Amino acid sequence: MNDLQKKIKGRIDAAHRILVTSHIRPDGDAIGSSLALALALISIGKQVEVVLSDGIPASFRYLPGSDLVRTKAQGDFDLIISVDCSDLQRVGKALDGYRSPDIVIDHHLTNDAFGELNLIDPTAVATASVLARYMPAWGLVITAPIGANLMTGLVTDTLGFRTSNTTPEALRQAADLLELGVDLSNLYFRSLVSHTFQASKYWGAGLASLQRSDGIIWATLTVADRKTSGYTGNDDADLINIVSTISEADIAIMFVEQNKKQTKVSWRGLKPAVDVSQLACQFGGGGHKAAAGAECSGSLEEVQEKVLAATRASLQFTP
Ligand code: AMP
Ligand code: MN
Ligand code: MN
Repeated sequence: MNDLQKKIKGRIDAAHRILVTSHIRPDGDAIGSSLALALALISIGKQVEVVLSDGIPASFRYLPGSDLVRTKAQGDFDLIISVDCSDLQRVGKALDGYRSPDIVIDHHLTNDAFGELNLIDPTAVATASVLARYMPAWGLVITAPIGANLMTGLVTDTLGFRTSNTTPEALRQAADLLELGVDLSNLYFRSLVSHTFQASKYWGAGLASLQRSDGIIWATLTVADRKTSGYTGNDDADLINIVSTISEADIAIMFVEQNKKQTKVSWRGLKPAVDVSQLACQFGGGGHKAAAGAECSGSLEEVQEKVLAATRASLQFTP
């Protein structure tokens, strides 16, 4: 065990009340990593609260431990751990009134090491993969319910083991989880394939808005589209994964209107030479080389104009 691992184990061993948190608009890796770590800590006798600023979406409530999730912390904690989150701002309100995390466990290229101890591996496909690698060394046993959460993180961040960063390690970890009895097929279907009728109608509105120029393909989703379709989330319902399959694009972008002054942007790099994490950083966001996002101030039209100009400029310097 290296020094960092020893320190992390020491902090876990000494703690009684532990707060586990992750990023706003939690995805499968944020939720899976939080719940896996929380369940494992509970099984060694710790009191654990999982605090996610936006709570847990209904579509992930089948995961073991999902009833542990709160939107606000209560009381004192002698250890605060953040998983799958690249910076303090992205934990949202989860740590309001509390100190910065003692331990940060993550895989974002753009992580700014906002914890006291920082375990960040940008080569890992998911934070769940970092956890699967190190939990045994911290004395945390991976059981089937914990494994279901880890598998969800692995499957969702790799879009079913098909992203270009998928590693032999991730596939071995998935194989080990399968041997534990984790139902890969079911978790895959529920987290990546299945979606509601309302989400499909919402996709329809987004697909109708598709545009293309200079190797960039983009789509927009408005507040009105959500109203018309009945979709209750404030995200793109994963439409970016569909837009990213269009063969003509080098970069795919999704613009989701939040209100008149706020627009969520997602980028996907579809060529190995493209690095969209730097683009997202220009707009105060972050992410990975092939997938990044930012919460931008400005109306849909304003943000779209600036983001498209910056994206075009970045492609000029891409070989
Ligand atoms: P998304 O576009 O929201 O699907 O996110 C793509 C990737 O970028 C994920 O790894 C996110 O965690 C990351 N990401 C999205 N938005 C932000 C942000 N505002 N700051 C940092 N990372 C982000
Ligand atoms: Mn995430
Ligand atoms: Mn992740």
